[in-house]
Amino acid sequence: EDDQSVALIIGVTGIVGNSLAEILPLSDTPGGPWKVYGVARRPRPDWNADHPIEYIQCDISDPEQTLTKLSNLNDVTHLFYVTWANKETEKQNCEVNGKMFKNVLDVVIPNCGNLQHVSLQTGQKHYQGPFEMYGEKKVAHDPPFHEDLPRLDAPNFYYTLEDILFEGVKQKQALTWSVHRPGTIFGFSPYSMMNLLGSLCVYATICKHEGVPFKFPGTKEAWENYSHSSDADLIAQQHIWAAVDPNAKNEAFNISNGDVFKWKHFWNVLSEQFEVDNGGFVGKMSMVEMMKDKAAVWDEIVREKGLVVTKLKDVGVWWFVDLVLGGECMLDTMNNKSKEHGFFGFRNSKSSLISWIHKMKGYKIVP
Ligand code: NDP
Repeated sequence: EDDQSVALIIGVTGIVGNSLAEILPLSDTPGGPWKVYGVARRPRPDWNADHPIEYIQCDISDPEQTLTKLSNLNDVTHLFYVTWANKETEKQNCEVNGKMFKNVLDVVIPNCGNLQHVSLQTGQKHYQGPFEMYGEKKVAHDPPFHEDLPRLDAPNFYYTLEDILFEGVKQKQALTWSVHRPGTIFGFSPYSMMNLLGSLCVYATICKHEGVPFKFPGTKEAWENYSHSSDADLIAQQHIWAAVDPNAKNEAFNISNGDVFKWKHFWNVLSEQFEVDNGGFVGKMSMVEMMKDKAAVWDEIVREKGLVVTKLKDVGVWWFVDLVLGGECMLDTMNNKSKEHGFFGFRNSKSSLISWIHKMKGYKIVP
């Protein structure tokens, strides 16, 4: 078999990993035909099994396991790194995430003679500071964020990952890199550590089941001001563009849909999609508090509606909802740099929202 390109996706069941696993094998994907390997810790879930890829179960935080499971993949040409670990403090995040990425590079760079490109996903916290300083305007850069802004004077695991990337690519001549910085991602993954839209769909489903209005849990700023988002398929397309297009090499790119929206408008869309009363904005509520006793309710809904069996703690990432909707969304410059380098992809955020809801329903994650 004669594959032009061989991808290794680290985090293949994640919110962007699953999109990469779906898009890379398609016949019209740039740089193809692609052979694809995908790595995650848990056994392969059914919703990922349609994608024609080779699934490898491996915990990349364990260097021995990473060596054992990945050192025989000698044909990889492109590495897509779309994973992370969430720890208590940013200092721990730097240590643990740095080690994971290094474990992978230490095996892949020496063992893959044809390795051409490493594509790393970080995010908008590059400009905003880590979670522990989220919303502190004095820490963050003044939005809209553009790629040339200097690093903030605060610990940030994204900086650690970039530095490991820059060191790694030096080891091999003609090895190129790209960094991708999305904002809040709209996509499909019941295994994601941060899935805002999936969590909101689960919340709407619980409201419907209990016969109560679907109230917006965020602040007035989040409800009324402009927000933006990054479609997971669009991010995957930017990764692939950067992996194969010479104009994209050795650069960092923001990636967002290219439009703005307001949650007060999208709340109507969510309410309609789940046939629940729109409770609107009532004042900031804690989703973590509201959902802490709902695990059994979710199990009941799953049984009653014949959904794919999931646990509420996996499909409802309440701390993330509280965080994202806890304040005003900070915008970026809508992919100016990426467009200047030749990537013109965009999404209509409302269509994106609806299409991911349909996908979640289609795969029976929500009713
Ligand atoms: P997800 O949380 O959606 O997915 C993580 C993937 O990695 C899963 O497939 C998971 O599967 C796998 N994984 C986790 N730990 C390990 C491990 N130790 N070994 C092997 N596989 C592992 O990832 P995201 O796409 O959200 O995150 C990628 C980057 O994007 C991060 O830097 C994040 O901060 C950033 N980002 C994310 C945003 C979002 O809205 N989600 C917004 C902006 C930036 P399993 O658990 O089975 O191992």
